[in-house]
Amino acid sequence: MPAAPTLSPRQILDHLVKFPTVSRDSNLPLVDWVEDYLASHGIMSHRHWNEDRRKAALFAHVGPWEEGAVVLSGHTDVVPVDGQTWTSDPWTVTERDGRLYGRGTCDMKGFDALALWALVEAHQRGVKRPLQIALSYDEEVGCTGAPPMIAAMQGVLPKGAAAIIGEPSLMKVINGHKGGTGFHVHVKGFEVHSSLLPYGVSAIMEGARLIQWANDRNAAIQAAPRSPQALAFDPPFTTLHVGMIAGGTAHNITAADCRFALEMRVVPGEEVETHAQAFIAEVARIEAAMQAIRPEAAIHLDRFFGVPALTPEPGGEAEALVRRLTGDNAAGVVSYGTEAGQFQEAGYSAAICGPGDIAQAHQADEWLALSEFQAGHRFMQRLVEELAR
Ligand SMILES: [Zn+2]
Repeated sequence: MPAAPTLSPRQILDHLVKFPTVSRDSNLPLVDWVEDYLASHGIMSHRHWNEDRRKAALFAHVGPWEEGAVVLSGHTDVVPVDGQTWTSDPWTVTERDGRLYGRGTCDMKGFDALALWALVEAHQRGVKRPLQIALSYDEEVGCTGAPPMIAAMQGVLPKGAAAIIGEPSLMKVINGHKGGTGFHVHVKGFEVHSSLLPYGVSAIMEGARLIQWANDRNAAIQAAPRSPQALAFDPPFTTLHVGMIAGGTAHNITAADCRFALEMRVVPGEEVETHAQAFIAEVARIEAAMQAIRPEAAIHLDRFFGVPALTPEPGGEAEALVRRLTGDNAAGVVSYGTEAGQFQEAGYSAAICGPGDIAQAHQADEWLALSEFQAGHRFMQRLVEELAR
């Protein structure tokens, strides 16, 4: 069999961007391509399928078959381009003015391409410490794809030690982010004419109690002393927010339905679950009061995402590694959630470092500066160098 061509990071990126892996659609054509590319270089990869098998995560290991790998983690999905006006085709990498335009170039197929390049390079050159790659799905819809992928990896590969999550950070070291969770809330009331108010249940007025609970909790949180871990963030505390609400039929009918969405952004050092359970307990209390009036009344909760915080690790290995490779001695935090907290929760040391600026993510004409992509390439060259020593 003739030796397969080894692609440059840029050539890999061109391939990855051509797959329109919007989160609602399948990512399998991309996964097939990655699997074939790695196989053509003698690297076996593994899949973890989602429930309906329309999507898969892919992970692979090179180097000695032992624990302690460095893990390069990226997601394969991208946000939609619907309703956006693009200057060039979003599914083709177009270089102009020192920028690589295309959906996902910044968030985060640029890093994925660099990680795939590094894996092949590490395999061909031979490394003393193993390197793994982990490419997830469904990151952009609440980071729901990574936890099952991480669990599956641990059943198949020797456990890795330090995970680098390549979300766009301008190649700076990021060692913390807030965690969070969100609930779609459906309050089901009981309709009566409003003149008979005590005999009905207004879903809107009961929903308002839950929203006021969130307001009260925000006030209590903001009045409490700040924890040292929280002070790195702006704002330096956990926040609860209701971003949409709908319900009711007429001014003189107690509302049968009220729907709203509540999200919580939780600082490191606090458990997302503590806040989530406090809300669930309040829902149960209000629901019981509603049902005392009308047994048909109810509150349904649908939890649509949950991401643990990334907590800075004093002396953490991933952060130290990324510092050595970038020369960046500061450490920052970011306000967006990533899969880093999920790797950390599963027992990995985790830090974020990737090319590009999060400001360009999800935008029309998303771009990645060529200089960032090149800096990412040098980062991967130094990583492989270090693993080979
Ligand atoms: Zn991302």
